[in-house]
Amino acid sequence: MNEMTSSVIRARNPRTGQVDYTCPAFPASGLDALIAGLRAAQPGWVTAGIDGRATVLRAFCTALAARREDLLDALLADTGRLHESRIEADAAGVWVDCWVEVAPRSLDTLPRDTGLAGITGTAGFRPYPVVGVIGPWNFPLALGLMDAIPALVAGCAVILKPSEVTPRFVDVLQAALDEVPALAAIFRVVRGDGALGAAIVDQVDMVCFTGSTRTGRLVARRAAERFIPCFTELGGKDPALVLEGADIDRATSALATGATLGAGQQCYSIERIYVPRSLHDGFVAQLAAKVARLRPNWPDPAQGHIGPITFLPQAEILRRHLDDAIERGARIVTGGAIETHGGGLWCQPTVLTDVDHSMLIMREESFGPFLPVMAYDSLDEAVALANDSHYGLSAAVFGPEEAAQAVARRLDAGGVSINDAGLAPLFIGSPLVPEKTAFNHSGLGGSRTGADSIRRFVRKQAILSNPATGPSPWWFSL
Ligand code: NAD
Repeated sequence: MNEMTSSVIRARNPRTGQVDYTCPAFPASGLDALIAGLRAAQPGWVTAGIDGRATVLRAFCTALAARREDLLDALLADTGRLHESRIEADAAGVWVDCWVEVAPRSLDTLPRDTGLAGITGTAGFRPYPVVGVIGPWNFPLALGLMDAIPALVAGCAVILKPSEVTPRFVDVLQAALDEVPALAAIFRVVRGDGALGAAIVDQVDMVCFTGSTRTGRLVARRAAERFIPCFTELGGKDPALVLEGADIDRATSALATGATLGAGQQCYSIERIYVPRSLHDGFVAQLAAKVARLRPNWPDPAQGHIGPITFLPQAEILRRHLDDAIERGARIVTGGAIETHGGGLWCQPTVLTDVDHSMLIMREESFGPFLPVMAYDSLDEAVALANDSHYGLSAAVFGPEEAAQAVARRLDAGGVSINDAGLAPLFIGSPLVPEKTAFNHSGLGGSRTGADSIRRFVRKQAILSNPATGPSPWWFSL
């Protein structure tokens, strides 16, 4: 895990294909001092209390909001997208407000009766001193702040390392942090590659990792060796099930977005669709007609729907999945090409039929705007197909409410949207929805949603106090 990090990050612009940005990488040799500084500052952060921390975090959100245009420019250059970047840019303030509101209840320390001999139990919550947050390139800002914010509200210091693929937005984040020294002392953002990420895992007291299952396994293994908690949010191959009686117009519209938002470069993207055989042909025709209307966001990033392939090696995976599917008998109904505009690559949203589970496109995470549709003959078969995956992040079910609810409870997926696709990502990191965990290889550890998910960031104590003056009945008689 202790490899040398490269000293310079060179970032390719996904809209032009040009390497047009360089910045120094944070040297792994500097981590000792950085983390020692965080450890020294963290007790003062705890003492500030939730209200004090809220004031500082809100000042940061104000400083970030004042730089919204710069942030959007940086995220656009990092990811090639504007629509999704706007969603990211506006999330921080909402998360701070939500967590500040629910944290006092989730971390309440009122004494309660234990039911045993008048003994009271009081919860103690001791924040992990230094939390490491390591993020991916697909939503580079949101997927870092979504864990960093509740950790900071809980009283932890945080070191955040976003993906080296998307480093530009950090300049803007850092400028906002520089305006709020009280936060800059306990929240550090460092840029570097996987070796720096590994070095962070070697030093922090707990880890929140978002990224691929392959890297997540390495991180979880190292965290286990160090006996530190590790929360991993990993890849997905989300299924959508269309039931008899579903509103097909609604289902096709929802799926045309749910499978292509972020150009499909979303862990929560719908990547496979199962439809009753009797509805299959009509469903495919409607879906393909809608998907064919989706346009690349080129040349104007404010127009169109589909952004470029952000990370160049992803294009190879998309080609391999398409070629493999076609070789094995799949038929492309619409899309199927990776286009070049400027110097960037745009994958056409692609509807496929005649697919089966021998194909990579039905089994491995594609991370692209693919909508393979497979017919099924019975509900049991559909559920078995949906669950035939080593992933289990989220899913969608379309159909009459009662039937859809029943199917949802049979799916191996942490978040299930009913009569919509992609509700779960709207709420990741939110305290306002029920808790959910990833199933299978899509992640490990406690929920990132729900009011109590902030408890991931604290060590829990049970402080038990006995008010009796005489001997306790369980003592030896001496
Ligand atoms: P990745 O695993 O390649 O990299 C993620 C981060 O890990 C990067 O910051 C990278 O520098 C760092 N890293 C690499 N090696 C490391 C190591 N040995 N130790 C510690 N850190 C290391 O993932 P990616 O390609 O950036 O992101 C795409 C993946 O992320 C997809 O699989 C996607 O499904 C997943 N993802 C999951 C969620 C979720 O909430 N479940 C959200 C977004 C993305």
